[in-house]
Amino acid sequence: MFTKFLLTVAVVALIWFGFRYAQRLGERRDRPPRTPSAGKERFTPDMDGDSVRDLVKCPICNTWRPAGAASCGRNECPY
Ligand SMILES: [Zn+2]
Repeated sequence: MFTKFLLTVAVVALIWFGFRYAQRLGERRDRPPRTPSAGKERFTPDMDGDSVRDLVKCPICNTWRPAGAASCGRNECPY
């Protein structure tokens, strides 16, 4: 009688741990790799290049534009 009870507990525990193990395996398979952008090319700005520009605020029209950009069209615009 007692051995039957022990056997039942052992079987339940085995199923339980087996289920958890299978679940963990599935999670690991579904999870995306640690670097999702591994295949993609990352944007790396050139520090002295044209890809990055500081914006300057026009005091007249209150817009931010790259330094050296064309004027906004107003007569008072300093750019
Ligand atoms: Zn302006």
